[in-house]
Amino acid sequence: MTEVDAVRDPGALLGVPADETYDVIIIGAGLTGLHQLHELRQRGRNVRLFEAGDGVGGTWYWNRYPGARLDSESYSYAYSFSEELLQEWDWTERFASQTDLERYFNHVADKFGLREDIQFGARVASLTWLEDENQWFAEFIDGRTVRSTYVITAIGILSAPIWPDLTGLDDYRGEWYHTALWPDEEIDFTDKRVAVIGTGASGIQIITEIAKTARSLAVYQRSPNWIVPLRNAPIDEAEQLELKAHYNEFFDKLRQTTSGFVHNPEKRSTFDVPEAERLARWEHLWQEPGFAKVYSVYQDISRDRAANALYAAWVSDRIRERVTDPAVAAQLIPEHDPIAVKRVPCESGYLEVFNQPNVDLISLRTTPIERYTATGIRTDDGAEREFDMIVFATGFDAFTGAFDRIQITGNAGETLKHKWRNGPITYLGLQIADFPNLFTEVAPHNKGGQCNIPRCSEQNVEWVTATLDYLASNGLDRMEATHEAEEAWLQHVHEGVSQTLLPDVDSYIWGSNVVGKPRAFVGYIGALPDFRDRCNRIAAEGYPGFTLTRAAERAPAS
Ligand code: NAP
Repeated sequence: MTEVDAVRDPGALLGVPADETYDVIIIGAGLTGLHQLHELRQRGRNVRLFEAGDGVGGTWYWNRYPGARLDSESYSYAYSFSEELLQEWDWTERFASQTDLERYFNHVADKFGLREDIQFGARVASLTWLEDENQWFAEFIDGRTVRSTYVITAIGILSAPIWPDLTGLDDYRGEWYHTALWPDEEIDFTDKRVAVIGTGASGIQIITEIAKTARSLAVYQRSPNWIVPLRNAPIDEAEQLELKAHYNEFFDKLRQTTSGFVHNPEKRSTFDVPEAERLARWEHLWQEPGFAKVYSVYQDISRDRAANALYAAWVSDRIRERVTDPAVAAQLIPEHDPIAVKRVPCESGYLEVFNQPNVDLISLRTTPIERYTATGIRTDDGAEREFDMIVFATGFDAFTGAFDRIQITGNAGETLKHKWRNGPITYLGLQIADFPNLFTEVAPHNKGGQCNIPRCSEQNVEWVTATLDYLASNGLDRMEATHEAEEAWLQHVHEGVSQTLLPDVDSYIWGSNVVGKPRAFVGYIGALPDFRDRCNRIAAEGYPGFTLTRAAERAPAS
């Protein structure tokens, strides 16, 4: 056994009865977990889903801050597995709000009777593989226990919130919130003095809302972000009918795109196109909704520094046009970073907020926060500002953080946290050597993490469901990725990203937003059709790269 964090001793759990026993347990009632539960219920599996929160929706349950909204087109984010659901649900806006999304996932849970098999308020504390019993032993923070042959994690890639250094926050007498843990009640900003820390996608959305009614708003920015206009709009009846008439073709098309988005890359390269044509294209895309101006720009912007710099300079001009004070505009432009290399937030009036007399932009690079005080925030230049409310929009310990919150011990007695201490190691981002019968959906090094998530999540769910069918119909009950397959996959993941500009910019995809986290790529930039074909080919060939066994064949434990 290797050096590990305090591991659960599997030997001590052998023969220990659990409160309940299942064939499969699913962790997480977000969009992936709900779909997975539906598929397994359809097949009559003995399955139970455990969810830490009190409701369904995952991301859209927790991130209920004002302004939270999709940046993928709503209809591209819908479940495609039920024609009836597609026909009965009306998306009212091009980019759905958190409220609509939460309503949607509740509707899905009710329509398919999923709540019968969901345990809410159940946060998993540990998962321990019992090799001799071919079962996972799950313990919950309230002490309940469950045994299960298979575990499917659907715990999300952005679900473990992080906080900055909170020195002095205990002294602070005002209200404070994190965007990812927003309370289920109305928080009124009217006439309040508000501070927001963080200017990622969440910060940008909530800042735009708070600025509408706050008496004053101080935006504490560490790094500026490239941003593009969202261009949300209502969906009228004619568009609704058109969508409903063509959903199947639409989803077939999305499945052929690189990352499941409506917008496909332009095949030509920046310098192959005359300048006038290039400018006309950029201008056209700029007026389009959503990620058009990120994903449909010339294909080389993700690989060629010069091509990227040309487009970035053009976008900088669009930012300057909208911000009155040139010094503030300069602070809002990440001029040294390539564009579209880390997730680009889409905004609706964010830049104009900085033209308002009640809004200040404070650079944390120039003046870091020294401490929180009884009345507000003190920066290291000695300036002390008073606030009625502080909002943390500081993001997540992405991809691996949700796994680290569960102590997962595999068959080598090693925790997953220890195995991943220098970065994730998986096969296809779907299984992990030494962690048998554990399937990880929308997880590190899995296409689901860098995607219009429902389109890649459905691939994960379909593949895992078919794999469980295969195991059952062949009398098999144990499946584990091999170390060799993992090493080859890791190399493939790293090779792919090394051919892009992604390594040039720090972000959560490298873990660089979390103090002490090793710099390691946690995403996967391969194309969705290739990922799906690869997974299907592996299944068709009898799962090379995995070891599949049945109880009768395994040597009895010594
Ligand atoms: P984020 O992109 O990681 O942004 C966090 C912000 O907080 C950054 O500005 C970061 O600065 C700052 N920050 C972090 N730690 C800090 C510290 N110790 N001191 C000062 N500032 C600190 O997180 P997010 O905004 O929650 O978004 C995460 C992801 O969620 C997005 O990329 C997107 O994929 C998804 N999301 C999507 C939507 C949507 O429209 N559908 C909305 C919200 C979120 P640095 O940049 O310097 O690290």
